[in-house]
Amino acid sequence: MQVPAYVEYERATTVEHALTLLARFGPEARILAGGHSLVPMMKLRLAQPETLIDINALTELAYVRLADDGSELCVGAMTRHAELLDATVAGKYFPILHDAERVIADPVVRLWGTVGGSLCQADPSEDLSAAFAALKATMVIVNLAGRRTVPARQFHTGPYETVVAPGELLAEIRVPIVPGGGSAYEKVGRRVGDWPIAAAGAAVWLTAGAGGSGGSPPGKRSGGSLPRASTAGTIAAAGIGLTAVGAEHFSAAQAEEFLAGAPATDETLIRAGQIAAEHCRPVSDQRGPADYKRHLAAELTTRALRRAVGRASRAS
Ligand SMILES: Cc1cc2nc3c(=O)[nH]c(=O)nc-3n(C[C@H](O)[C@H](O)[C@H](O)COP(=O)(O)OP(=O)(O)OC[C@H]3O[C@@H](n4cnc5c(N)ncnc54)[C@H](O)[C@@H]3O)c2cc1C
Repeated sequence: MQVPAYVEYERATTVEHALTLLARFGPEARILAGGHSLVPMMKLRLAQPETLIDINALTELAYVRLADDGSELCVGAMTRHAELLDATVAGKYFPILHDAERVIADPVVRLWGTVGGSLCQADPSEDLSAAFAALKATMVIVNLAGRRTVPARQFHTGPYETVVAPGELLAEIRVPIVPGGGSAYEKVGRRVGDWPIAAAGAAVWLTAGAGGSGGSPPGKRSGGSLPRASTAGTIAAAGIGLTAVGAEHFSAAQAEEFLAGAPATDETLIRAGQIAAEHCRPVSDQRGPADYKRHLAAELTTRALRRAVGRASRAS
């Protein structure tokens, strides 16, 4: 059995303590959350931190709740996958999160793996990155000087890389709640509990009269250009997240643009899937050939959009 190389170990008791430890031990220190990604990488010598800073005692970062003014869903970085799956409030406002969590790994991994660990691992096949990209979430990063917020689509800077700098922690993910929204996640893997061959998440906001009550969709709050049409069945805005197919920032911006203001017909949703697939850059690997992944990107985007539109219509 492989064992990790020698490593110092510190157990943080508060967020401030964790940040102080990160500052003390410098860039060769790594946060240990659930350890489901980090420890296997250490065994393979793909990661060789000098110090592990264990944040499992930080229950202050383990929650799924509404913001005080009810405008956002707040998910603490130390929330376990299983806790997000169990959180009624998450499923009520964003069923995409429950769709995704149901197909992430297996119950054992979900019991201990964390939302923050998944996002910070930044695996190009990671499911929640696509789900939060579709929802146009915001990441809250803390350091000893305070906190900063980063849009989900600017959080990942490349495979296994994020904007979280040495000395910083991902603390929370915030998702704006806008009336008229519906969301869904679709994944194809080689077997139950496996990483995706490809997966797509969709969030749509319908205009008033289309089943939604027409709030301002995320990213369109200040002077944004909502479509004028208030025709029944019109998509005001959409978010599409893709994973494992080389989509830029885990999203499909061109397909989202195409959908804004378009009628929510099946023809539109199929075309959006095609556009999303056209802008992916999948690579062939042990999970499947690139052309199959591109095919899945189109098909799964369309399926996720169909379910998201259906849910948005029923939500009103
Ligand atoms: C068998 C198996 C199957 C899996 N299948 C899937 C799947 O189908 N889909 C999927 O998306 N994932 C899958 N995963 C990945 C799993 O979801 C992640 O391994 C896990 O959730 C990562 O979270 P963690 O808490 O274990 O992170 P850790 O392994 O503890 O940390 C991962 C990285 O993030 C950093 N980090 C952790 N938390 C923070 C924080 N708050 N701030 C800053 N940096 C932080 C760590 O330093 C490390 O670099 C699978 C994993 C396994 C073992």
